[in-house]
Amino acid sequence: MFKKIASAVSSISGTPRNGTPEPPVLAGHHGPGRVKQYAQLAKTLEDYGVPVATEDCAACDSPCADGAANGAGGAGTVAEIGNAWDGKTYEQYVHDKYGDFDEFPAAIDTDWESDLAGSGGPPVGRVVVISTGKSDWPRDHVDAQDSLSYQVNKVLSKQKGGGKNKKDGNPADPSTYVLNSAFPPPSTALSGPIAPLPSLYSSCLISQAEDPEDETVLVFPDWKAVLEVENSLEGAQGLWDGALSGSLGRAGQRLQNEGEGCNRRRSYVLPYRAIVLLCSHKRRDKRCSIAAPLLRSALVTCLTKHGIHVDETGSSLAVPELGALEDLEGTEAEREAEVGRRISNIEGVHGGEGGEVGIFNINHLGGHRYAGVMLILFPSGAYLSYGRVTPQEIPRVVEDTILKGKIVPGLLRSAAGVVRPGATAKENGFLAW
Ligand SMILES: [Zn+2]
Repeated sequence: MFKKIASAVSSISGTPRNGTPEPPVLAGHHGPGRVKQYAQLAKTLEDYGVPVATEDCAACDSPCADGAANGAGGAGTVAEIGNAWDGKTYEQYVHDKYGDFDEFPAAIDTDWESDLAGSGGPPVGRVVVISTGKSDWPRDHVDAQDSLSYQVNKVLSKQKGGGKNKKDGNPADPSTYVLNSAFPPPSTALSGPIAPLPSLYSSCLISQAEDPEDETVLVFPDWKAVLEVENSLEGAQGLWDGALSGSLGRAGQRLQNEGEGCNRRRSYVLPYRAIVLLCSHKRRDKRCSIAAPLLRSALVTCLTKHGIHVDETGSSLAVPELGALEDLEGTEAEREAEVGRRISNIEGVHGGEGGEVGIFNINHLGGHRYAGVMLILFPSGAYLSYGRVTPQEIPRVVEDTILKGKIVPGLLRSAAGVVRPGATAKENGFLAW
């Protein structure tokens, strides 16, 4: 278990250029050069109002930046790194608490050189995740003509509005990759239509609809599952009209036509405190199909340790506790307030142990060279895109991000709806709204 860190330390070269030693770039997260880099990024993000996990830096008694001055041995001795983890190295801490995780095989070949922060931008409109029961798809997932994704893509292509921001951001300027969500927080009605179009994903989610022809669709940041969406162009159009159109808030469209035909679809607030979406798209890039099951297994181990139930199929959606959102009565403001109340009542929604997390495989996210890549979404509206996630890093994803609502700087690619000025010191970071 010390092998990785020992080899990381032995690979420190400190190549001098113009007389200044360059921080070493290491193929791992916990080498001294990395820790220094992440401490800087953590400060940049924190100054911008993003709640960040500071175990890499501020929690350390001898922060790397001034380690040399206080005689602790300079930027990045293993002892310094260890101070953040109950006085242990990170790897020892993980081993003692969770056991050993499988390492990625060499075939993953992650890009450790390029800047991760700012690699691709987050969507600021809705995120739509459609059940297919599969973990691999055609190279472009919407090419599967028998799928609801194909039909929804057809409907989306007819709409006017902005798409996903694909441009890379500047790591030193969080405003280029940590964006505001176009949506208000839960309980609040829209003040105007949402212009950006939804981002569409196919997922391994198993449809929970009674009719085998129907699919189940997860909609974010609304935090709802739309059951019984007919797999047809009419079904896709109905989904747009009832749940995805930019004029609709979380409560969506009211009951239409007594639920006949395509109007049989019904929406329910999700029972999960967080959702993790893992890219597993083998026909796009085999690295993700290798990474996804290893990350999933580590996630289940860590979440279970914290008393959190894991739903990997969607079965928790089958029998909703409360009535459909289409049936909510009252003004738009009252309907939104009721959805907000239901969201507030999700177990674990404000952090800590317990509750339930959904983990599903999805198609191509972009940035496969940073495999493993994942999206993590929260009822507060927070959206995170993480990269270079190894099984060893999953404890940080769970302990810092899912339990406490804090970003792990070294894993961040982009985010939306996570700025909470002053929230770093609080226990629940961007889980609050
Ligand atoms: Zn991928």
